[in-house]
Amino acid sequence: MPNYTTQDIRNIAFVGEGASGKTTLIEALLHQTGMIQNLGSIEKKNTVCDFDLEEKEHQHSLNSAIVSCDHAGHHINLIDTPGMIEFSGHALSVLTAVETVAVVITAQHGINMVARRIMERAATRKLCRIIIVNKIDAEEVDLEQLLGQIQELFGKECLPINLPSRGRSNVVDVFNKADGDVDFGSVTDAHTAIVDQVVEMDENLMETYLEQGKVSLDQLHTPFTNALKDGHLVPICFVSALQGVGVQELLEVFSHMMPNPTEGNAQEFYRRQGEDSEEVDVTPDASKTIIAHVFKVTADPFIGKLGVFRIFQGTVKKDSQLHLGDERKTFKVGHLLRLQGKEHTEVDMGIPGDICAVAKIDEIRFDAVLRDNIDNGDVRLKPMDFPQPMNGFAIEAKSRGDEQKIGKALVSMEAEDPCFTIERNITTSETVIYGLGDMHLRVILKKMKNRYNVEVNTHPPKIAYKETILGNAEGHHRHRKQSGGAGQFGEVFLRISPQERGEGFEFTNDTFGGSIPRQFIPAVEKGVRLVMEQGAIAGYPIQDIKVSVHDGKHHPVDSKEVAFVTAAKKALIDAIEKAKPVILEPVVQMDIIVPEGNMGDIAGDLSSKRGRLQGSDTLPGGMLHISAQAPLAELGQYQSQLKAVTAGQGSYTMQLSHYDVVPPNIQQQIIDQYKPKAEDD
Ligand code: GDP
Repeated sequence: MPNYTTQDIRNIAFVGEGASGKTTLIEALLHQTGMIQNLGSIEKKNTVCDFDLEEKEHQHSLNSAIVSCDHAGHHINLIDTPGMIEFSGHALSVLTAVETVAVVITAQHGINMVARRIMERAATRKLCRIIIVNKIDAEEVDLEQLLGQIQELFGKECLPINLPSRGRSNVVDVFNKADGDVDFGSVTDAHTAIVDQVVEMDENLMETYLEQGKVSLDQLHTPFTNALKDGHLVPICFVSALQGVGVQELLEVFSHMMPNPTEGNAQEFYRRQGEDSEEVDVTPDASKTIIAHVFKVTADPFIGKLGVFRIFQGTVKKDSQLHLGDERKTFKVGHLLRLQGKEHTEVDMGIPGDICAVAKIDEIRFDAVLRDNIDNGDVRLKPMDFPQPMNGFAIEAKSRGDEQKIGKALVSMEAEDPCFTIERNITTSETVIYGLGDMHLRVILKKMKNRYNVEVNTHPPKIAYKETILGNAEGHHRHRKQSGGAGQFGEVFLRISPQERGEGFEFTNDTFGGSIPRQFIPAVEKGVRLVMEQGAIAGYPIQDIKVSVHDGKHHPVDSKEVAFVTAAKKALIDAIEKAKPVILEPVVQMDIIVPEGNMGDIAGDLSSKRGRLQGSDTLPGGMLHISAQAPLAELGQYQSQLKAVTAGQGSYTMQLSHYDVVPPNIQQQIIDQYKPKAEDD
């Protein structure tokens, strides 16, 4: 039995820009609670959370890491996440496992895009949020101004729960105390502000407060948690992870004020998908059937594949037999593990709220739900919406004969990272891997080399254009072939119209009177679908159109399937040519990190690439984070151009934003490059 209950557990994910100090802060929390004797540091490459070969090399977290500590009777799971956008798949995937998201920002640089995005995501996921302002020891920081900026950007519900004092060498709790000396502002005002905010959650308490002028801290506990859950309160804590300032106070906040698994995590599970899906009632009850969610899969160098999961209901034991998704076959847990960075200890059982791992289950995959009873059908967690990676490398094996090994390595990498995908393009016979950025893919290829001893050559992949139409049109083709023996005859009239973007393809048979006999309608649809796949004007798949076949002719002897397939194909091409056909291109959302001095170069270059600048933020180390949109087709050489402009210091990531119509001159170039294959009749 664990020496804690579900009510004693706190699950906290640390999220924020790279170098905001998440790993250092977790190290300080472990040290403060006596979990480690010596403080590790990023520079010495000996922290508990950054242990991967590749992480040590980059001096950055590239994956999430889970550690835990015990404090004042509470068991606190702390999850470190990578701050770099390239690895944001690993940061976002842990959000399903926690009640609280701690958004870490640095005192010098304040709020940035990563913090903004995560605040939004956590709010949509109905998670409790806390903002940690780290590095308050640093030179030239204006914490009062930063506090104002936080409130301006994220709302008045962001209120300090402590304030720096004695020249930023200490912090004073303003929730439990109503007076004291602080570096800026006043304890009394900050105390009143946060208590007022909490009291607003409970009408009766509000009345007592108005009548008596104060309420007891005990009375505030439940409304405090409710205020966190509703997003009505986002506490702000000040710390210096490096100097150990505010670390003990942060532990107190986590233990006494952040929600436990019976109060917090609002993850929603569903049975069935689509329209008839229904929400499943999941309660953190140790005696019920098991429901656990795999939020991380990784290959451990010592014990092989590791599946890390959070238990939402039931008790997982060492010998539990679990189903993976809705597979009938079960696997035996065997060794149930608790993680501490790269170390793991075996435990007998995990209770609701716990984060545990199983090793050596080859089939385990990210996002799988583990259960001990699947009689009532499939159960899934409400899907996270991950950024769709757009940075592609077309790859091929460096050594002949390695293809199978590479295939296996890729599949295992895909199982670990929700923002890494593999596409095998049958028409171009290219295997393309997609990630959020160049470095993302290079780290994955490096891991493949380290772990599987396989190497690949890479080159830029072809752009995935699409075709569609803007207008309505009619199309017609009569196919007749009379050579030698049996002839072929089929005639098709069809009508096409554009659908809304994303609505897809619709085919209807509106013929009457047997103009095209019923048995040939599938052949007509087949011809239409072939054109949809192969394209009509430039060889790219067609999307978002409606096709209605409304008339035709047949011949009692010569009509056959092949004749109607060909007639339908040509009738559709005929219609598309008259329906204002356009080519759509992928437009990507870019996050570009460059030295401040390069802002002008980047902006000028982007506009020459049909791109659009959206905004910029200052980052640690004199860097800028620029967000922009640009057509993917213009970015083929972007990595090397950026490297040249920034003397190797720039980097960027991209994800799909939307598809847009290409300008007419570019459309013409694409069409000219397309050499239609010899027609097949
Ligand atoms: P992460 O990428 O968010 O995990 O950040 P790290 O923990 O790797 O820290 C990035 C850098 O900031 C390292 O050089 C740390 O030593 C430094 N750092 C972390 N916390 C503090 C702090 O409180 N004060 C100062 N001055 N530096 C800090």
